[in-house]
Amino acid sequence: MVLTSVGVYVHIPFCERICPYCDFAVVARKSIDAIEEENYVAALLAELEIRAPQFELHHLDTIYFGGGTPSLLRPDLIGRIIESLCSKFGGKPREITLEVNPSTLEIGRLPYFIGAGVNRLSIGVQSFDDLVLKRLGRAHRFSDVEDIIPKARAAGFQNLSLDLIFGAPGQTYESLERDLQLLIEHAPEHVSAYSLTVEKGTPFSKADARGQLLLPAEEESLAMLDLVWGRLVEVGYNHYELSNFAKPGFYSLHNRRYWFRKPVLGLGMGACSFDPKSRKAPYGARPENPRDLASYLDSRLACEDVILSADEAAREAVFLALRTSRGLSIQGFIDEFGQGPEEFFGETSRRLVEAGVLNVGSGEVWSLTPKGRRVADSVFLELL
Ligand code: SF4
Repeated sequence: MVLTSVGVYVHIPFCERICPYCDFAVVARKSIDAIEEENYVAALLAELEIRAPQFELHHLDTIYFGGGTPSLLRPDLIGRIIESLCSKFGGKPREITLEVNPSTLEIGRLPYFIGAGVNRLSIGVQSFDDLVLKRLGRAHRFSDVEDIIPKARAAGFQNLSLDLIFGAPGQTYESLERDLQLLIEHAPEHVSAYSLTVEKGTPFSKADARGQLLLPAEEESLAMLDLVWGRLVEVGYNHYELSNFAKPGFYSLHNRRYWFRKPVLGLGMGACSFDPKSRKAPYGARPENPRDLASYLDSRLACEDVILSADEAAREAVFLALRTSRGLSIQGFIDEFGQGPEEFFGETSRRLVEAGVLNVGSGEVWSLTPKGRRVADSVFLELL
C-alpha cells in the first residue's frame, strides 16, 4: 500500500569555477573526467541503496538535480540516476528538474537530457547585463543566455525556470529594469528572483569587510525588490513564494515539498533530507551529508541525524509556510502540535499583528501582509 510521496534531491557539486558569493557545497572543475563522474554516480547510487528503506511505501513524486552544476554530468549518467530512482521507488515522477548554467551546458546535450527524462530546466541566468555578471564572478555572459533559452525550447523543454539576482554589486535600478524586460520577453514559465545575500566566509564577505563591495544602499535594494515583485505580477506571474513566481500551473512541485515539510531524500555531497516522521523522530529529522567530497565519498552517510524537537518543528512550520502565498493552515498546525499558533507564539504574534506584518484575519490561515513580505527576514527573526 502506498502511503505518501517522496521528492529526491540529487546534489552534483561540480562547477566550472566558484562564484565569489557562493555558499553552496561545491567543487571547482573545469571539466569532470569520466572516472570521477562515474565514481560520484556510483557513490550516489550506493547511498540510495542504504537510505531508500527509510522511505519505504513512498512513491516518487519529484526529482531535482541541483548543485553545483548538474549539467556538467553526462546525460547518460543523469538517465542512469533517474532510472535507478524510478525502479527503487516505483512510479513516474511528475517533475524532474535539472539546474543548468548558460556557460557550462553543451547545447548539443539538451535533447539527451530530455531523452533521459528531464522535463524542467532551471537556468542560472542571474542577469542579462555583462557588467553585473562580471562583478558576480559568473562564467557566462549575455550572449550565452540569449543562446541557451531558444535552444532549450527547440529541444522541447516546455517548463523553464530562470534565476534572477538583484541587489548585486554595481547593479542599478535601470539595469535591473532592462533585465526584467529581457526576462519577460523570453516568457519563462517560472522565475526565481533572489536578493543577493553576502554569506559569511565567501570572498564577497571579505571584500565587504574591507569596504570594497559596492552594494546598493538599503533604500535602493527595497526599490529593486518592489520593481521585481511588481513587474512580474503585472505581466501575469503568481507570486507564490517570497522568491518565486510562476505562470498558472507551473509552481515548482519539488520546492513546495520544502515549504510544506513533505519528505525529501537528499543524495550527494552536502545534501539535506527531511525524513518521514517515525517513532524515533515524531516531528521528523533533517540529516545532512558531509560538505566535502573526500568525506562524502568515504563515508557517504549523513554526519548526524538532526532530530527535530516539537518546538523546533513548530517554528520551522510557521517560518516555511509564511514564505508562501498560501500561508500556514491553523488547523494543520493544531493537528500536528496540539495547540494553535497564536497560543504557541503568544505575545510575539500579537506584536506582529499590531505592527501590520502578520495577518491572522480569517482564523483559518496565517499569512504575511504585503508590508510583512517586504520585511520578511525581520519577521522570521521574531518567530524563530
Ligand atoms: S554556479 Fe552556482 S553553485 Fe556554482 S559556484 Fe556559482 S553560484 Fe555556486
